Amino acid sequence: MNPTEKEISREPVENTIVAIIQTRCPKCREENMFVHQALNIKGFLKMHRSCPACGQDLHPEPGFYFGAMYFSYGLNVALMVTFGIAFEILFHPSSFALTLVSVFIPPLLLAPWNFRISRAIMIYVLGGIKYRGNKSKA
Ligand SMILES: [Zn+2]
Repeated sequence: MNPTEKEISREPVENTIVAIIQTRCPKCREENMFVHQALNIKGFLKMHRSCPACGQDLHPEPGFYFGAMYFSYGLNVALMVTFGIAFEILFHPSSFALTLVSVFIPPLLLAPWNFRISRAIMIYVLGGIKYRGNKSKA
């Protein structure tokens, strides 16, 4: 692992939405759930078995993250609708085929983030793990 990846997270993130987007551990919100950054093509899928900071198990049961595909689907539909409408309004394309192409490009480019954020949503919503609060503030 390169040292800049390790330096990314330390202070816990209080806001749940920000913590999910940054794929922080749901218990301590200090460490990233994933080993590498999203732009690491070979390793963006690799998750920690347990949180390096607090030891929270990030794989509650076998196949736990299969359900994340439903969140992924929802995120992709939201992206496609948003970009499709924006493309229509901003560029008034001459053919519907252009709109269709514009609708499929953002989800393809954002696939690594979609994958990771979907898994984070899954463990935050259905993992049954409560945020322990900021220990350094108390
Ligand atoms: Zn943790």
